[in-house]
Amino acid sequence: MKNTPIYSIVVPCYNEEEVITVSYERLKSVMDSNNEAYELLFVNDGSRDSTINILTQIARKDNNVRVINFSRNFGHQIAITAGMDTAKGSAIVVIDADLQDPPEVILEMIKKWKEGYDVVYGKRLKREGETKFKLATAKLYYRFLKSMTNVDIPVDTGDFRLIDRKVCDALKTMKEKNRYVRGLVSFVGYKQTAVEYDRHERFAGITKYPLKKMIKFAFDGLTSFSNKPLKLSTLIGFIVSILSGFNYFVLIFRALFFRSLGNAFMLNSIVFLQGLMFIMIGLAGEYIGRLYDEAKDRPLYFIAGIIDKESLEGHTSEEN
Ligand code: UDP
Ligand code: MG
Repeated sequence: MKNTPIYSIVVPCYNEEEVITVSYERLKSVMDSNNEAYELLFVNDGSRDSTINILTQIARKDNNVRVINFSRNFGHQIAITAGMDTAKGSAIVVIDADLQDPPEVILEMIKKWKEGYDVVYGKRLKREGETKFKLATAKLYYRFLKSMTNVDIPVDTGDFRLIDRKVCDALKTMKEKNRYVRGLVSFVGYKQTAVEYDRHERFAGITKYPLKKMIKFAFDGLTSFSNKPLKLSTLIGFIVSILSGFNYFVLIFRALFFRSLGNAFMLNSIVFLQGLMFIMIGLAGEYIGRLYDEAKDRPLYFIAGIIDKESLEGHTSEEN
């Protein structure tokens, strides 16, 4: 690479063969129009399709492209983290590969950065092509998360954002394993602002976030920034004890003046409370599991190789 780039555009890619060429072209034309040095940093997150071949082709002819090739699939948030760890720019932009976030918005982010903001996050006004279920659960979740945490995580934002070098360096010091990057960015503070945009439908391909990954992601957000759920069992315990305490008086009263009834009611209450107990144990387990991940302290990811024009020219004999 000749000049040190001012901008690093980090693009996590998992099985994106259908979109990656078009994404690259759109990003290139936007960044070329800006007339300042930049690098496009694609993170291939263990794709099983031809994404890595396409990215290698692109890197072969474009000096501004670097590809971080993971040894396997580590997940979206880790791919973003690796991009930030490797980025050389003074400003780092994270954008999805599927063109749901329009690359043109990057220019607006750059403008805000030049005005002196350290974090410019994209705020979604509209979200096209998402299922009603995803829209409703996302809306509920972001508001719920806000009420549960002390960190001001803006609602309706994703990971599409620009961060200054000093924010990137601050993020690098937070080594937690189950990462909720947008929360971490809020956590570090600095001067933050938003640019609003309409989120489009995926350009091609299908979502790489099935329900299971979404649920894990939701728990990561909650457990990383709040321990209120752990305290919920204390609250429920108090409420149940007080209510059942009162109920003794009712039962004594009934035993004295009426014939006792309500076995079914009692049984159902027991089952209900057992259900609550399991939920609370499970919630505690979510935290313990994450503590276990921290205790093991394994590296977040492994890189099989970093591919750019220079490295490809040095290894021409390997190619066919
Ligand atoms: N992604 C990734 N690793 C994964 C899943 C997704 O790098 O394990 C990337 C994916 O290629 C895309 C971005 O993360 O660039 C967001 O994924 P997707 O668009 O499928 O999520 P959605 O927009 O549907 O929430
Ligand atoms: Mg998407």
